[in-house]
Amino acid sequence: MTAPTFPMHVSVDDARTHLSALLPARTAETVPLAQAYGRTLAADVPALVSHPSATESALDGIAAREADTLGASPDAPARLRVIGESRAGAAFGGTVGAGECVRIYTGAPLPAGADAICPVEQLSDDGPDGVLLRRAASPADVRVEGGDFRAGEVVLHAGQVLTAPRLALAAALGHARLSVQRRLRVALLSTGDEVVPPGQPLTAGQVYDSNSVGLHAMLLEAGCEVLPLGHAPDSPQALQAAIDAAGGADVLLTSGGVSMGKYDFMRDLLVEQGRVSFWKVRMRPGGPAILGGWNGLPVFGLPGNPVSSLVVFHVIVRPALTGQPPQTLRLRAATPFRALPDKTAFWRGVIDGGQVRDYGQQGSGILRSLSDAGALVIVPEGQAVQPGDDVDVILL
Ligand code: AMP
Ligand code: MG
Repeated sequence: MTAPTFPMHVSVDDARTHLSALLPARTAETVPLAQAYGRTLAADVPALVSHPSATESALDGIAAREADTLGASPDAPARLRVIGESRAGAAFGGTVGAGECVRIYTGAPLPAGADAICPVEQLSDDGPDGVLLRRAASPADVRVEGGDFRAGEVVLHAGQVLTAPRLALAAALGHARLSVQRRLRVALLSTGDEVVPPGQPLTAGQVYDSNSVGLHAMLLEAGCEVLPLGHAPDSPQALQAAIDAAGGADVLLTSGGVSMGKYDFMRDLLVEQGRVSFWKVRMRPGGPAILGGWNGLPVFGLPGNPVSSLVVFHVIVRPALTGQPPQTLRLRAATPFRALPDKTAFWRGVIDGGQVRDYGQQGSGILRSLSDAGALVIVPEGQAVQPGDDVDVILL
């Protein structure tokens, strides 16, 4: 190989920036709410209505004038005359006067004249048209019109991911459709002569293709459309044919074949015939990752080890695809975590009792850590963690 003309051993942050720069600008599309789950808002979302849409009761009970009920107690209940009913969807048309009340139900409009609610649990009947209140009616149980949000107010913001609660809120704001970012189309290819699809017999020296499965799921979680290209053997011709099949994708994600080995053809292909943005990242696991381009298609080459590819996906690929930095938690370390002099370490950790401890087996070939470890503990270059220190962790 001739001397490299591209950056090598870049930082994790720089790797992310390089990848973001190769992704297309995100255009918007409008989709019905039922298709908006997990999408990213392309525009601010104003409330089309106020909530509550009228001043209403938060409880089942009676609506009255607070002043008429002050001092009511079990021994000296307040006595009110019932003049009607207000229920959700059918308001009481009259006005509550002195000594009067209206039976009211949760979400029903507060009648004119009334300013307070006494819950049904505090009431007993006093003849056909009367009630006794064992407690004063309270204005705190009145929900004021617009007290949650007012028509015209911007409540959801461009860039927010539509979680289930936000989707429910968008419906409550009055929107049947939302403007969201177009999904990125990500082609996915695993490589390696020893890699076979699960479900087939395995001979010694082979390994099941777990990367295609795990990366596919993580891409869906990241809100991407996935173009599965399956698997290619370790041959330059086969790899070229597979990459050429990724037409129409915004980016191709591959796994395997990017390290220093003789049969790491993915790296050779990009270095010798494509274009390289960087090769190798100052991180462990995941160091051999490569970013380049092939006939205008951005190609991100993940290392083959499933643990490495998971970590690189979480700390570089996912943030670039979603435009959101990795979400970290700050937790107390229960065990030491070793530092590396010239790399950021992402050690697998187990969260237990509000603390995080070393998972133990940190080799990138330990596949069971994919399930047993719930977190990546970030140890910056040269900054060892002692028990009792606070560390940043990424939840897996
Ligand atoms: P490579 O990056 O191609 O040198 O592969 C590194 C290690 O990861 C090897 O032990 C491979 O067998 C393993 N590996 C590569 N691709 C996959 C895959 N798709 N699923 C599971 N293991 C893989
Ligand atoms: Mg390989």
